[in-house]
Amino acid sequence: MSSGEQYNVMPTHLEHYLGFPGVAVMLSCPSCESKHTVKNGRIHNGKQNYRCRDCGRQFVQDPQNKLIDQATKDLIDKLILERLSLAGIARVTGVSELWLQRYVNAKYVTVPRRVSVSAKKRGD
Ligand SMILES: [Zn+2]
Repeated sequence: MSSGEQYNVMPTHLEHYLGFPGVAVMLSCPSCESKHTVKNGRIHNGKQNYRCRDCGRQFVQDPQNKLIDQATKDLIDKLILERLSLAGIARVTGVSELWLQRYVNAKYVTVPRRVSVSAKKRGD
């Protein structure tokens, strides 16, 4: 007997639908962001445990540390280009300002041209 895990194999042509709002998505792996995750039983407090099929990491869905899905990130990218304030983007997309600040820092520190998204004063 091999493991009793059920692998939901997603046909490649469906993969680009995964990020769309309203479509059920599997959790993304917090390590490699792969969506090839499978349910992996429950941990001691009853929370659903998941395992990433790509890197093998096990993780638990944590509402305190909710993963931001790709559709939301795409939207955030667009809003940043529209020069909306971080506070405004956070309100529109429902992410925390702290998360957003980190996201922007992480994103724009890697590109050569600096984009000043936080230059505006709040309440402007
Ligand atoms: Zn992974």
